[in-house]
Amino acid sequence: MKEAPLRNVTQLIERGLAPVEHRLELEKVAQRYAVTVPPALAALIDPADRSDPIARQFVPDARELEITADENADPIGDDAHSPVEGVVHRYPDRVLLKLVHVCAVYCRFCFRREMVGPGKPTMLSKSALAGALDYIRSHQEIWEVILTGGDPLVLSPRRLREIMKALAAVEHVKVIRIHTRMPVAEPERISPELVRALKAKGKAVYVAVHVNHPRELTSAARSACARLADAGIPLVSQSVLLAGVNDDARTLTDLMRALVECRIKPYYLHHGDLAPGTGHLRTELAQGQDLMRALRGRVSGLCQPTYVLDLPGGYGKSPIGPNYLSGAAGEYVIDDYKGEHHRYADSVTARS
Ligand code: SF4
Repeated sequence: MKEAPLRNVTQLIERGLAPVEHRLELEKVAQRYAVTVPPALAALIDPADRSDPIARQFVPDARELEITADENADPIGDDAHSPVEGVVHRYPDRVLLKLVHVCAVYCRFCFRREMVGPGKPTMLSKSALAGALDYIRSHQEIWEVILTGGDPLVLSPRRLREIMKALAAVEHVKVIRIHTRMPVAEPERISPELVRALKAKGKAVYVAVHVNHPRELTSAARSACARLADAGIPLVSQSVLLAGVNDDARTLTDLMRALVECRIKPYYLHHGDLAPGTGHLRTELAQGQDLMRALRGRVSGLCQPTYVLDLPGGYGKSPIGPNYLSGAAGEYVIDDYKGEHHRYADSVTARS
């Protein structure tokens, strides 16, 4: 019989994955923020290791009750850019289409933690989806549609096929990108039928896989990614820099290399958002920059993600370094990967 996901504190304690002495606080956390740990991820947790990096991402922590003044239920300002239900139109040429509010696993650092999980609407209603598709059809400037949520791959292949067909029919939409944690959370769900459902005639379909620790890329997860890549779907990654999970050069190196080995191009390394109760998982910007410098020195260019911060207030993503260029025109100084400085004149020959 298929093993069921762990969906509450009692189940986590019984499996030895959460400390019984914190039961009361953890119950309070679970009342506020969704809890689900699927078998594939539960199996990766070492119950003897109180700082296990997989547990830190998915097992509730009493510190989630500590909410600071600068944390916000909508930390990246989705609401301010939502012209119709389910659509976020922050940048001119692309929109998010938030199809569902459920996930196969609930991450403790999630920037949409106030909007996802049981007790929230599970998915866009039929009429809201129709309104969202109308919005996309009527805005010629939309070149890319990003399916997100929650996790859009919780939808059945039949529902996904319908949505991809509707998007494929929009002439000005050229790219459809699907953001998901499913290949690591429930690898078996990336079935040949689901992969076929992601085809959109005449459009480029990308899948962005969310992975934060190299241990998440089990052989089953690697096979799930291979099924997508073998079907001609380009894969990119997004990871979140998290204290005690991947905030050291060795882990990040292993993660980025493992992604590239799985034919997943590292895309974004996100600085942790100011989501409520996530302070214990955030790092400092300077630490993130140091780690990016370390990566630049030790691993292939293929393995380099862009380190970004989603600005609070809905102003979008900004790359946050590190910066290798200083000085001014005519006397630039450029740092190499070892941190040594080099002058660069930036001379050009005048063109007629
Ligand atoms: S899978 Fe994504 S949306 Fe779902 S809880 Fe994790 S980070 Fe949030």
